[in-house]
Amino acid sequence: MSRAAKASIDLAAIRHNYRLARSLAPNARAAAIIKANAYGHGAVKVAQALAAEADAFGVACIEEAMELRDAGIKQPVVLLEGFFDADELDYIARNGLWTAVHSEHQIDALAAADLPSPVNVWLKMDSGMHRLGIPPRDFHAAYTRLRALPQVGEITLMSHFACADDLAQDTTERQIAVFDQAVEGIDAPHSLANSPATLAWPQARRDWLRPGLMLWGATPFEVAQDEAAKLQPAMTLSTEIIAIHDLDVGDAVGYGASFICQRPSRIATIAMGYGDGYPRHAVSGTPVVVNGQRTVTAGRVSMDMMTIDITDIADAKIGDVVELWGRQLPVSEVAQFCSTIPYTLLTCLTRRVALEYHNA
Ligand SMILES: *Cc1c(COP(=O)(O)O)cnc(C)c1O
Repeated sequence: MSRAAKASIDLAAIRHNYRLARSLAPNARAAAIIKANAYGHGAVKVAQALAAEADAFGVACIEEAMELRDAGIKQPVVLLEGFFDADELDYIARNGLWTAVHSEHQIDALAAADLPSPVNVWLKMDSGMHRLGIPPRDFHAAYTRLRALPQVGEITLMSHFACADDLAQDTTERQIAVFDQAVEGIDAPHSLANSPATLAWPQARRDWLRPGLMLWGATPFEVAQDEAAKLQPAMTLSTEIIAIHDLDVGDAVGYGASFICQRPSRIATIAMGYGDGYPRHAVSGTPVVVNGQRTVTAGRVSMDMMTIDITDIADAKIGDVVELWGRQLPVSEVAQFCSTIPYTLLTCLTRRVALEYHNA
């Protein structure tokens, strides 16, 4: 027997979610964004599960792309942050990687490179997020310069949104307007939409979608949204009850004695903690599911264990499975109890959590 903490990954759900992205823009292609080890789901396994249908994959850096190539993944792989050093360009050209270009110094590096074949580029504009990208006023010149280089193959024009998950703000519309104005007269494909834009901003669905979070079936929105409701959760994080204690009113539970029983309570200890990546800042009262019934955490999360209130789950016993998030409990909902976003919960699981794959 091994420790029960595990993340079960439903590869069919990931394919369903990828197809949902594609169905929202039938004429577009979609680069499945599988950076950060596919947000904790295992980049190679996910790429293999999508290999028959993904138009491309997106990763953050060359090490992540190399992992895919070493595993035999043939699709184009886009480096979303581009290359960091000119010595990456030879590998990029030889292995069919596509690279974002977000600054003049990368154009200089391309111009100076001696490459075996031209490299496809996603030229990135800073349309208002001010993190990466060429300013709109310099964009035409950057494009013209890049287009003239024999080292450069196809060029796609890209930008990234700061607030696409906020359906009430007009920041996304303003960013689209800035982008459209700055690319006027350039005949090249566009790529704007991350998951929230793919789901909720039809004007942002251009030639290439870039869905990441939605592939895992997690909603980026804090409010209900029609398309996000069709997503299927891909990861179920679970463990088992390893101890049960019947406690009296006034008894304290866990580090800091911060949880005090307000009623005679049955408290279960489960094999899951921040050493597994479950956030320590999850508040007491964060939902969990035991035997199909929802209950809540009680007290602080420790490194290897945490405690939950099973007073109202009459038949719960040692060895019963506890779901921390997944099929029965959306990871986005758990994230709200941890003052964070589902992205961090998924990507921060540690290697102590075994990944189990289903529906390959
Ligand atoms: C990570 C990333 C994405 C995917 O974003 P999600 O919100 O996870 O869909 C898309 N584009 C770029 C440039 C990224 O870095």
